[in-house]
Amino acid sequence: MSRLLILLLSFSFSTWMSAQHFIPRGVCGVNHESQQLAEKLYGAAEERISATGDRNNVVYVPVKFHLTANNEGKGRVELRDVLNQLCILNTDFAASNMVFYLSGDFEYHDITNMYENPGTSNALLVSKKNPKALNIFVTENADPGSAALGTVLGYYSPQGDYVVVRKLELVNRTNTLSHEVGHFFNLRHTFYGWEGAPYDKNIHGETVTFTTVPNGIPGVQVELMNKSNCNNAADMICDTPPDYNFGISTNSCSFNLTVFDRNNDRVIPMVNNQMSYFSKCDTFRFTDGQTTRMRNNFNASTRSQLRSNYVPSKDTITAQVVIRSPATGANLPVYDGIELDWEDVPGATRYLVEIRGAGQYYGYVTYESRFYATELRRNQLYSWSVRPFNEVYACAPARNATFRTGNGTVSTTEIELVKNVKIFPNPVTSQDFINVEFNVNSGELPITVELRTIDGRFLYSDTSIYRSGQSLHTIGLKDVLNPGIHLLRIITEKGTITKTFTIN
Ligand SMILES: [Zn+2]
Repeated sequence: MSRLLILLLSFSFSTWMSAQHFIPRGVCGVNHESQQLAEKLYGAAEERISATGDRNNVVYVPVKFHLTANNEGKGRVELRDVLNQLCILNTDFAASNMVFYLSGDFEYHDITNMYENPGTSNALLVSKKNPKALNIFVTENADPGSAALGTVLGYYSPQGDYVVVRKLELVNRTNTLSHEVGHFFNLRHTFYGWEGAPYDKNIHGETVTFTTVPNGIPGVQVELMNKSNCNNAADMICDTPPDYNFGISTNSCSFNLTVFDRNNDRVIPMVNNQMSYFSKCDTFRFTDGQTTRMRNNFNASTRSQLRSNYVPSKDTITAQVVIRSPATGANLPVYDGIELDWEDVPGATRYLVEIRGAGQYYGYVTYESRFYATELRRNQLYSWSVRPFNEVYACAPARNATFRTGNGTVSTTEIELVKNVKIFPNPVTSQDFINVEFNVNSGELPITVELRTIDGRFLYSDTSIYRSGQSLHTIGLKDVLNPGIHLLRIITEKGTITKTFTIN
């Protein structure tokens, strides 16, 4: 038995030695050359800034999420995963007093090359960047195009100054994005120098007597436990202990090897450091030294585009969503125009509406507490959810409900009180207004005339009292509408009429 075990061990060991790139685990795509380049491009100005700046003041970092898909618009990450990611990012950086806020809306790119091969699409990604934000591209693959010892989960590109992260990292709620944002703010790996040549007892010995990292970049010092060279070795931060890239060979948040440095001090890495390669820790953290370095980078002249006096809405949202309509389980008469309505939630400035059913996923962000769904199919059961959030706080839970669509269409819906609706001119070409004419069959009737985009986003609303007879309502279109098909809705207490019109 012992002989068989030895044979097996030696076989697996030699496999490991000769084919380290087959390690079945994920890694970061930022090699030591990239970290050097990042320091050269974005780190130099840090030296001019005092490291003793006020650590207690909160800094606000604008982020732009770029949600990529293939040319057919398929494969994009679901929006709940993006909110979960923003929640994780702000949780991970809370102790550093760095708050990330959404700069405008999510960007959508349906470009297969960007989605599948961002590493060979640098110019394309750069062309899509928001110049005043930390840009995060969520993609299918995150291979930066340079050699790595495993599947690349994400990377920071110093050439383009943006971050790429695989959508699976968002789905799995990992710390990958927090790690890459650490690189963005000029943090090195805690095991800097060992990226392409991780610790291996057979090469480095139980006691590591090398003074520089073998097979790493020339001249990178092997960091010692007694901190005597911590200012110059590895990440050059003294409160992160030595790490000889131990994390890459374990698929856990623990370190069980017995390794000594050349002073015979036992090497104990910080396994739950954000910039290590250990995985599956309950929480990862940045040290004070790392926080200082990141905040200095944020305050450097090379990062002036991120700084402003803007203070985002960031209230913690605690209230549950209360759905008004449709009542859960409702059977609706129509399928192509369904008003989803819920009560305002304190602290929320946006809501994520997600609808799932008939094998489809629909995700929308709305700034008001209602949404008009127009893309659904006939006679299908849908589950939908609404989740409140704001520019910063994205950790609130969603409220779920269901409905079943019917066979009818809103355009055939007639109501007794309003007849003979006409929209003219239709299509709208050069003029910047549109007329709505209808007959009211009631003494006095409050009517809301509303414009929406074809995907249900609110554009315009006016509620007035109309008297019996023919009425004409003129709506200015300047600054309101873009070319395309739009919805006009006439809403009364006893029913709604929906018509479409086109702007050329
Ligand atoms: Zn990394």
